[in-house]
Amino acid sequence: MGLTEIYNQYEKYFKGNILPYIKCNNCNYKFYYPRDMCPECGSDNLSIEKSNGNGKIYSYTVSNKNIWAIIEMNEGFKFYANITNSGTVDINKRITITFINKNNKTLPYGEIQD
Ligand SMILES: [Zn+2]
Repeated sequence: MGLTEIYNQYEKYFKGNILPYIKCNNCNYKFYYPRDMCPECGSDNLSIEKSNGNGKIYSYTVSNKNIWAIIEMNEGFKFYANITNSGTVDINKRITITFINKNNKTLPYGEIQD
């Protein structure tokens, strides 16, 4: 699976409001940012999986009223996303992933569940 193929698959999943991630079939490591090799063991035996869209805030920063968070998903991978609702952001707050279309691109955002 090449990088272009991974990006294309990701885009397709985003359009279907699904958060994808990559699983290494050799060592079982899970990661989000597209790579054609496992960052843990170097294997190229990878598959794209679908996340259930639930996770929690691992860490966050606020800049210009935007909240950026590292979200730890239930499946065990982390990714970086903008938080849509600013209410009561905090470490370990539960979030679900929501999708927003901006400038013809659908991208995942985190939404805090209170
Ligand atoms: Zn691996």
